[in-house]
Amino acid sequence: MVFDRNWKDLFDEVIKGAPHSIEIPLPNGYNNWKQLRVAHTHPEEFGGTFSVKDITEFRKARPISTSAVANEGIYTIEQIEGKRHNWVNLAKKYEQQYAETHNRLFDELESVCMDRGIPATREELDTIRKNIANEVHEWLKSNSEKYGFYYTFIST
Ligand SMILES: [Zn+2]
Repeated sequence: MVFDRNWKDLFDEVIKGAPHSIEIPLPNGYNNWKQLRVAHTHPEEFGGTFSVKDITEFRKARPISTSAVANEGIYTIEQIEGKRHNWVNLAKKYEQQYAETHNRLFDELESVCMDRGIPATREELDTIRKNIANEVHEWLKSNSEKYGFYYTFIST
């Protein structure tokens, strides 16, 4: 889904792609993403916030805003007008934060599994995925503004 600055929809249908892939063509009349807003879906039952790949794409394309539309709500990161937008550091720090959270939570689960001698269940893995998403969501809430971006979540 692609929108102009005023949220006018520039494509009349949702672009169908594999989950987490954002291969969206540019609308006619545009040769980059800088005056555009983009949105893509996180179709899982709990979609969670942006992936590291999403933020990397955001850093490369530099649209006005990017949104992840999930079942639980819409996550948006948007340039704050009149502020310097530090995409590079936002992406770098987010990647570090994501990796740190991912490794810590999986290490904890692994030690639980070792103690009881039974591998992680699908339910435990889903819970971990959700907990990682929630932690990095909190990180984006607390940190986006210092890189020049608003981060919002609108629950559905
Ligand atoms: Zn995504």
